[in-house]
Amino acid sequence: MVKKILAIHTGGTISMSQNAQGEVVPNAKNPIAQEETILAGRVQLITDEMFNLPSPHMTPVEMLKIKQRIDQAEKEGIDGVVITHGTDTLEETAYFLDLTLPNTIPVVVTGAMRSSNEVGTDGLYNFRSAIEVAADDASRGNGAMVVMNDEIHTARYVTKTHTTNVATFRTPTFGPIGIVAKNHAIYFQKLIDQDTCDIDHVVDHVYLIKAYAGMDGSLFDFLDNDQTAGVVIEGLGAGNLPPQTLPAIQRLLDRQIPLVLVSRCYNGVAEDIYDYQGGGIELRKMGLMLCQGLNGQKARIKLLVGLSAGLQGDDLKQFLSTAVS
Ligand code: ASP
Repeated sequence: MVKKILAIHTGGTISMSQNAQGEVVPNAKNPIAQEETILAGRVQLITDEMFNLPSPHMTPVEMLKIKQRIDQAEKEGIDGVVITHGTDTLEETAYFLDLTLPNTIPVVVTGAMRSSNEVGTDGLYNFRSAIEVAADDASRGNGAMVVMNDEIHTARYVTKTHTTNVATFRTPTFGPIGIVAKNHAIYFQKLIDQDTCDIDHVVDHVYLIKAYAGMDGSLFDFLDNDQTAGVVIEGLGAGNLPPQTLPAIQRLLDRQIPLVLVSRCYNGVAEDIYDYQGGGIELRKMGLMLCQGLNGQKARIKLLVGLSAGLQGDDLKQFLSTAVS
């Protein structure tokens, strides 16, 4: 049966070209969006050039528009979706879609590390692989996925790990869930649980702060105002903070601003293990919510989605604490 796949193009290196000076620049016309004959006979490709943005220009407002476009396509009977995207913030858009879509049809995000006219460009290849995965029945129920360099990753855990290498997307701690073989997807892991949360708007002023040795409360004090909706803190190691940050953090908590703690470590999960000043045990008792398994930028997306859905108190805490399952 011919599968109907919606290709949503949003920009990024996959849509760009290198000029005579070797600089990578956006094109007025996205070359990847002209590729209509891929998997001819097996897939009917429906193309939507929604945006032509470098991914540092992407915001939750565009992410919500992509989600709404997919909602509409599902109603029209689409079998799967591929989104081409710049790689810098690809993991954030992918995770946003993972959290906000109902997880009924495959949603696959891809991009490229080399622009469309560079030697060894990976754009067309990744696009083709992403279509294969989106059209594969075995891809249903995996949430949003990221397909790059012949690997299939969950949107929840994948992260960009290299500035230029084509093997940049990795899933630390858990590994990819599958690979792309010549004509199909092969899965060898499954997510146990899926958190989804429908939203129709996105809140602003959700921040991400990284801890460092000798940190004090200055950065937290900048957020001590009525606008701040929530803050994710990338803590040290298992989830600890320098003691000089604590008074400023307490002031944010006194304002009822939700504070989420993850680890700045590349591998592992945040836990309340240490019982010293600024240790995870004290932070949990103060009221910080530990979010296990997500990196800082993903935890920020999850907090933003939860707040946009109107979650608060224990419901928000529960939503944020269920990343590892
Ligand atoms: N800076 C580019 C972007 O994120 C990188 C890429 O697409 O690979 O748009």
